[in-house]
Amino acid sequence: MNCKAFWFVFLVVILTAGCAPAPLTPAALPVTPTAPATATQTPTAAPPVEATPTFLPETHLSLPSPTPLPSEPRNAPTTWDGAWTNLDPSNFMAQTFRAVSSAIRSVEVNVFAGKGGGDTLTLTILDASRNVLAETSAPVGAEGIDGWLRFEFSEPVPVRPGEEYLLRLRGSKVWVNWKLSGDLYPQGSAIVLGEPSSFEDFIFKVNAAAGEDSNPLTEAAYEQLPAIPPQPGTLDEMIARCPTAEEIAAIDRDIELIFEGGNTGELVCKASEGSADLTAFQKSAYQALLAMKMLTFTRPLPWTDRPLYDWFVSTAKGIRFRDDISQGSCCSPARVINIPSGSFARLSPRETWRWADPRSGWGLVQGNVNLFVHEARHIEKGPHTCGNLDKSLSEMNAYGVTYSLQLWMAYFLSNPAILTAQEPYAEYYRDLALGAAESLRTLAFCETPPPFVP
Ligand SMILES: [Zn+2]
Repeated sequence: MNCKAFWFVFLVVILTAGCAPAPLTPAALPVTPTAPATATQTPTAAPPVEATPTFLPETHLSLPSPTPLPSEPRNAPTTWDGAWTNLDPSNFMAQTFRAVSSAIRSVEVNVFAGKGGGDTLTLTILDASRNVLAETSAPVGAEGIDGWLRFEFSEPVPVRPGEEYLLRLRGSKVWVNWKLSGDLYPQGSAIVLGEPSSFEDFIFKVNAAAGEDSNPLTEAAYEQLPAIPPQPGTLDEMIARCPTAEEIAAIDRDIELIFEGGNTGELVCKASEGSADLTAFQKSAYQALLAMKMLTFTRPLPWTDRPLYDWFVSTAKGIRFRDDISQGSCCSPARVINIPSGSFARLSPRETWRWADPRSGWGLVQGNVNLFVHEARHIEKGPHTCGNLDKSLSEMNAYGVTYSLQLWMAYFLSNPAILTAQEPYAEYYRDLALGAAESLRTLAFCETPPPFVP
């Protein structure tokens, strides 16, 4: 029951549902540490004043400035601040550019993927009317990748200097991710899910000559978590501390969490400090269930009369966390959902210790909540009904429930204050849910439902 998820970065909406967690899970560098951050606080302490992940340099707190534009079209900044999107096969992810020379011999894109995936990426050059001019592919091996991937065309692709073209990149899985920057390439823009995004560009190079040297692309450091702790009673406050031993025991009585993966790396919570010995991923798994307990609503969910958490633990009898899968699935074994847990080296502090990082629009706890709900619904309803999509909202299949959950969070929370974000503004997480809902509404159903009216 593989399905897709759609991924936006920066302040764009994120479609947090879907059984494709690679999208929900930034991939790891094979050579980088697996635990995103250190935190040694007690369960009741303020959020960790976060160590900058050791795999990042400690400079560059702001967006990189553009490198001078060379003659050929390119967006090749020397630093990268961590924004990316996954390359789901059916998502239209592209970059527009204006041709400089009259032929294109090769194209490079800057991508990353964790160890163990592997895929073949397809790069297509299209004209402004989106007619295909040329297409070629390049492999990403199971060892993963972090850097430039070159696509050579056997014959030069003729183009008209000054005219606009598109580079579309897609994978056959959701394992590889294309890095984005801010709006650094003035002659074009990123196209995310088919729509131009005026404030960001994919990182790419179009080469007229057969081969060119690629500059190295280093990462900008993630910003520290703010020193001011989240407001009491919020999801953020819960995520900013470790789950207590009592909370963990209560969850363990309700559902079996099987950490076949996600169980290596640094411990961010410790039994000796009143929690349990948990990696960042394990912490997020328990916190996703705690978040589901907090998500209560003023009107029943459209697929169950029970509270979200009660429905979930009565539907799924276990969760297998596995490093060897890149997409979620259900029912192996029966009534046990399978959730990918590998490849978390790239998480920013906010993705680990907040509901969402405003820079990516994503967080590990949030991602797990949506994935748990989506996969659990597969237990009740079976596979998707229109290829990778659901036929209609009214079926209330796996996408129907993830879509509805976003709306219920935006409109019908018993205590809307739990969604308060400390930054960039208080309503940010609500806007994120609304944006995710709109993406799901327009992309997850073969029969697009009308806009929701609360
Ligand atoms: Zn699914």
